[in-house]
Amino acid sequence: MNVFLKTAFSAGICLLLPLFSVWSAPLSPQSEFVLNTVCTVNLFEGGTRGRYAAVFTRIREIDRMMSAYQEGSDTDLVNRNAGIAPVKVHREFLFVLEKALHYAALSGGAFDPTIGPLVRLWGIGTEEEQVPRADELEQALSLVDYRDLKIDRERGTAFLARRGQALDLGAVAKGYAADEAARIIRKAGVKRAVVDLGGNIMMVGSRRSGFFIFGKEKPWRIGIQDPLEERGAYFGILQVRGQSVVTSGVYERYFEKNGRRYHHILSTANGCPAAAGLLSVTVAADSSTDADALSTALFCLGYEKGSALLDSVPGAGAIFVFEDHSVKLAGARDRSVFTLENSRYRLLE
Ligand code: ADP
Ligand code: MG
Repeated sequence: MNVFLKTAFSAGICLLLPLFSVWSAPLSPQSEFVLNTVCTVNLFEGGTRGRYAAVFTRIREIDRMMSAYQEGSDTDLVNRNAGIAPVKVHREFLFVLEKALHYAALSGGAFDPTIGPLVRLWGIGTEEEQVPRADELEQALSLVDYRDLKIDRERGTAFLARRGQALDLGAVAKGYAADEAARIIRKAGVKRAVVDLGGNIMMVGSRRSGFFIFGKEKPWRIGIQDPLEERGAYFGILQVRGQSVVTSGVYERYFEKNGRRYHHILSTANGCPAAAGLLSVTVAADSSTDADALSTALFCLGYEKGSALLDSVPGAGAIFVFEDHSVKLAGARDRSVFTLENSRYRLLE
């Protein structure tokens, strides 16, 4: 994923920003390592210390609730009690589980929040990363089934039906955290902000170009990470209004063994890194939770099935980048405009 933000750095505005800073002295953007990634929040107006602190406190709370690696998180409690007993979890945790179940059903299980046993087996991004044996893969795969995740809204509980099953919300937690950050920012009355949680981008308001009363409302310009280049290099620009932009790609987390690359988005069909002919999928949607779940689902499904799924989500659009460097757009384009900026890629209709 990791989308590089162009926003304020785009030509015209970069000259004006320093002037603006002298006038209203906002704090510079703040970054923290949380949710296992670098999270940056930029409040373009009203960026007080207290507001930044409130946003990061909430992001850390969500990390503590959703993380598959922190003892005592809701994910951890549900996993320890798999096949034993339902566990009381936070209301927001249930909300995220319901979202995840929605996209699991919609994608026919290609996206699956009970992917935990497979994620642990591969250990990608940990010191135990390995290419598992076929029998290990089969055993872990037999435990992956979102239909075994039971939610009881009235009691506020979640339950995995079989021992050994495990939740992993790595594909939606950042999206939810970005939505929550945006909610807090809006509630504080801040009109313009960008939240970047390791490439899960959420915009608040619109970009303002120009100075003071002469300024104009403009769409945000977001550089989309080039999946074949180092972090920060973008291959195209997406202009969006009030939406979240999230990318899933082969480059985000992976290891190499015997000349082969193994990335972290796994196929629930064979247990191996999803190989649908794609280098990355970027999704723009109103909610970052949806965009995050969708980017992972579409990456697993590939273009044909993925674009069909996207058509059932109002307002969502996607950019598919194929292994042969072709690029295709899908879904709604009424609020986003994509321009290709690198001739290595070809935009197909
Ligand atoms: P990133 O973590 O880079 O933002 P994604 O949003 O695509 O990328 O999420 C990938 C993470 O989701 C993996 O690290 C793993 O925790 C989890 N995951 C991997 N494969 C699947 C899948 N098929 N369905 C749901 N979650 C998955
Ligand atoms: Mg995702």
